[in-house]
Amino acid sequence: MSDLSRPIGPKIISIANQKGGVGKTTTTINLAAALVEFGQKVLVVDLDPQGNASTGLGIEVESRALTTYDLLLDDVDLSEIILPTITPGLMIIPATIDLSSADIELISNEKRSFLLHDALRQTAMDLFQFDYILIDCPPSLNLLTVNAMIASHSVLVPLQSEFFALEGLSQLMLTIREVRQTGNRDLRIEGVVLTMYDQRNNLSMQVEQDARDNLGNLVFATRIPRNVRVSEAPSFAMPVLSYDTGSKGAVAYRALAQEVLTKNTQKVA
Ligand code: ADP
Ligand code: MG
Repeated sequence: MSDLSRPIGPKIISIANQKGGVGKTTTTINLAAALVEFGQKVLVVDLDPQGNASTGLGIEVESRALTTYDLLLDDVDLSEIILPTITPGLMIIPATIDLSSADIELISNEKRSFLLHDALRQTAMDLFQFDYILIDCPPSLNLLTVNAMIASHSVLVPLQSEFFALEGLSQLMLTIREVRQTGNRDLRIEGVVLTMYDQRNNLSMQVEQDARDNLGNLVFATRIPRNVRVSEAPSFAMPVLSYDTGSKGAVAYRALAQEVLTKNTQKVA
């Protein structure tokens, strides 16, 4: 069954939650790597001034001559700004701390909320033939995150399996609603994924129950377990799928990718 409502071209997904440390970057890197394993061509856009996705995918700061900042605010050649990673089929537009000033600089720009939307839809992008673009959002609901949501077909929300996990979710949903009203009518919620899940911990189970009660089938069946291999992988500059391919974390991210692919069936070969 194909989804004809979606335009031709890559499916663009924002990975967003205004809380820090909930697993946005980890999910961006490893979902991207897992989608690549399933034969998809994937671009990661690092939209966090901390540049953790860039570091985690092995892009040294010295190699970040052009970044997401230039993508938003300068006229740049995509072939110069899109970098390969050690994973064939997985590419990235990196970020540096320069991006932290973009939020302010964008305010005076007439197209401030649409800059990323327009940048990702320039015709030169067609040459790369990406199937998916994953945007790693900063831990805030600022203009960068709004740019990501305006540019995206959907939002994927990592939810850390800890106390207060659901707190703040209503604010995120409100932002999604505002974006729908102001510039991206068709923005969908791809799903909510439980991260750092600990099966032996009652609290994890309670958070899962709450999430499933409140959000129903928006919550992915796959839970990402707390797994030390997942947290070690970035310091080896690779996805956990390469660092320890049989680890629980790698297996879980493959299952998540499969769910995403199933939801977007026309992308499955
Ligand atoms: P965010 O991008 O939302 O700030 P990160 O993806 O950087 O969050 O994750 C925060 C921290 O938690 C990082 O140190 C990361 O390595 C660790 N982490 C994320 N997911 C897992 C997991 N499944 N198991 C163990 N550690 C994890
Ligand atoms: Mg992050």
